[in-house]
Amino acid sequence: MSIQVINLEHIYSKGSPFEYKALTNINLTTIKGEFVGLIGHTGSGKSTLIQHFNGLLKPTSGTILYDGIDIFANKKKSLKDLRRKVGLVFQYPEYQLFEETVAKDVAYGPGNLGYDQEKIESLVRESIELVGLDYDEIAEKSPFELSGGQMRRVAIAGVLAMEPEVLILDEPTAGLDPRGRDEILGQIKNLHKKRKMTVILVSHSMEDIGRLVDKIIVMAKGEIVVYDTPAKVFSQVKKLEAIGLAVPEVTYLLHRLKETYPEIRDDIYTMEEAVVEIERVVFKGGQHVH
Ligand code: ADP
Ligand code: MG
Repeated sequence: MSIQVINLEHIYSKGSPFEYKALTNINLTTIKGEFVGLIGHTGSGKSTLIQHFNGLLKPTSGTILYDGIDIFANKKKSLKDLRRKVGLVFQYPEYQLFEETVAKDVAYGPGNLGYDQEKIESLVRESIELVGLDYDEIAEKSPFELSGGQMRRVAIAGVLAMEPEVLILDEPTAGLDPRGRDEILGQIKNLHKKRKMTVILVSHSMEDIGRLVDKIIVMAKGEIVVYDTPAKVFSQVKKLEAIGLAVPEVTYLLHRLKETYPEIRDDIYTMEEAVVEIERVVFKGGQHVH
């Protein structure tokens, strides 16, 4: 599914003394199968934006087209269908686990879709394994016996069990230790590869998303500042610094080296690529001075 956003504006509590404009003039298109990172400081409007993607929030003005169709113009039935097609994993989704067993919790979504028992069971098993958990070991446990990282994966499995075409995750690594964070990010990457679904990953860490995604949307104060490939985004260090977003350390290093070696590429954001580039330019392709 492609999502096209045209001149989207969102105002909370419009017309009340608490009126607050959270999104201004948002324009973007995501392509089917793309892995998109959405980054920006707390309060920049990330969660507000993604809640428009599955119809939880309605635009105050502007239009959203899903495969070219304006859901809000076509009403109810299509909105329900949209919620199934666009799976949204909220921030700290583990707080929403509530059933006595993991299997029941993951079965909740597909159960609501009216599938038969056999189909539900196979979706539950598949989804639990997709997030890297062992079904036989975990299915009958209470979600509350699990570690924080495991609970979060169960919550993600619950959304996957509805077989969404688009998966949106709102800061899925928040509050996890570095290991839990890397595991979840690795699994999201695998999911994207295996299922070929569109993935939108919200984060406030450039380091986290730079090496994973095809495109990055940078937001500040309710607006899109840049929307481009990671290389193009990271080459605009000044612009990112102006809104207080740090780029990966290696990118800074290359920008510094560029002062001495003007031919060096400074649109690099992974250590692996940086090593190759530094060897090429600084050490002239292997003739190292030891
Ligand atoms: P982010 O996810 O980037 O942290 P949010 O989309 O949650 O940003 O919030 C954007 C702005 O909108 C913030 O200033 C926030 O305080 C405000 N906001 C969020 N939700 C509401 C709401 N329900 N009512 C009023 N203001 C809100
Ligand atoms: Mg948020």
